[in-house]
Amino acid sequence: MSVVTRFAPSPTGYLHIGGARTALFNWLYARHHGGTFLLRIEDTDRARSTQAAVDAIIDGLSWLGLTWDGDAVSQFERRERHAEVARTMLAQGHAYHCYCSPEELEEMREQQKAAGLPMRYDGRWRDRDPSEAPAGVAPVIRLKAPREGETVLQDKVQGEVRVQNSQLDDMVLLRADGTPTYMLSVVVDDQDMGVTQVIRGDDHLTNTFRQLQIYQAMGWTPPDFAHIPLIHGPDGAKLSKRHGALGAEAYRDLGYLPEALRNYLLRLGWSHGDDEIISTEDAVSWFNLEGIGRSPSRMDYAKLDNLNGHYIRQADDGRLVDLIGPRLVTALGRDLSDADRDLLRRAMPGLKARAKTLVELANGAQFYITARPLPLDEKATQLLSDEARAQLATIAGRLKDASDWTAATLEGIVRTYAEETGLKLGKLAQPLRAALSGSAVSPPIFEVAEVLGQAETLARISDVAGGA
Ligand code: GLU
Repeated sequence: MSVVTRFAPSPTGYLHIGGARTALFNWLYARHHGGTFLLRIEDTDRARSTQAAVDAIIDGLSWLGLTWDGDAVSQFERRERHAEVARTMLAQGHAYHCYCSPEELEEMREQQKAAGLPMRYDGRWRDRDPSEAPAGVAPVIRLKAPREGETVLQDKVQGEVRVQNSQLDDMVLLRADGTPTYMLSVVVDDQDMGVTQVIRGDDHLTNTFRQLQIYQAMGWTPPDFAHIPLIHGPDGAKLSKRHGALGAEAYRDLGYLPEALRNYLLRLGWSHGDDEIISTEDAVSWFNLEGIGRSPSRMDYAKLDNLNGHYIRQADDGRLVDLIGPRLVTALGRDLSDADRDLLRRAMPGLKARAKTLVELANGAQFYITARPLPLDEKATQLLSDEARAQLATIAGRLKDASDWTAATLEGIVRTYAEETGLKLGKLAQPLRAALSGSAVSPPIFEVAEVLGQAETLARISDVAGGA
């Protein structure tokens, strides 16, 4: 049987980082088995579902490269089908009408509470004759759940989990206004979409027993289930806003590459020996449910940064220029010219070696295409003492006559000058860095000069040292 997985987010907010991991695992499982990965938007809660959230989820999944097969399914649009299944269960004797008023249910709850009992519907309409139905009351449809025995789940991650059927009450399938409940909708959709493997957060584990009872009542074969432990913050507490970014798109804005986040999310709860850096290709070929851990995983932002740095160093230079382009446009307040882009591409090997995020990369790249005279930060100003400026003027005179404009030749020229004057190379290189980059940190300075070219290098030195 061909594998079918699905990601079934409720569109009540952004694509949560935990949701993104669930989507990734489902996507990997389907791709690993050459199966199908479906997207179902669980938009039945009309008050809380928004189109903006649907868009954010689709945008987040697309950015992460988690492409689904076919069109996204709207759960809400399938409500008639869900209702039809409830009526079928009713007709087959697996469900019944319940005419309890809200007041009656409230009273039942109060009594159970007072007696220290768990709050459950007591099944009072389960075996009552429909002729006893009060006039003018629209009934709900409830599942006639088994009362004896137990419901057993063979979970691919949690192992065997059992619940006594006496612990589960007769849940509502169809409300009095004819709308299906979430529990029913999920089962009908998974069945109709041919889902073979449900991979989702373990906060849904208790729902699964109820869902299994619906499969059983309909005589349907349930899919396999794998409930993955939730993600916790670095302090071990349930992940919340105070732990930082929660939405996948926030990671894009913070300058993470999708492949880095994929690798990070994969390792957040799944392992393959000691491997930390796992390409998406390897992830597809290695992914299995056996590698999913049983305990909650903790966010580790330093690890994410390190992975991101790795993927930035691996990334194509032209792609990185495109990715930092919008940030530079904002920072500089102008569009980038072809010459800017060309220069940035040549500068990229030196820049990407030291950036952990695209934000750092853009910040580090900005000086290359900032118009002269370059603003100097505090440290650069300190480095450019009168003495240093005078030395730079002399160096500029020699650089003018450079036989060629490569980092090695330029370094040779400055080294010779250092030896002649008895100065340490660093004593000259730091002011040169200040003049060329406006700061005290940059890629290797002779590389910077090579990328800037002779005219721009001399002009930048002249801006601080005069002459040349
Ligand atoms: N809509 C549910 C959620 O967003 C997921 C349901 C499921 O995966 O079965 O948590």
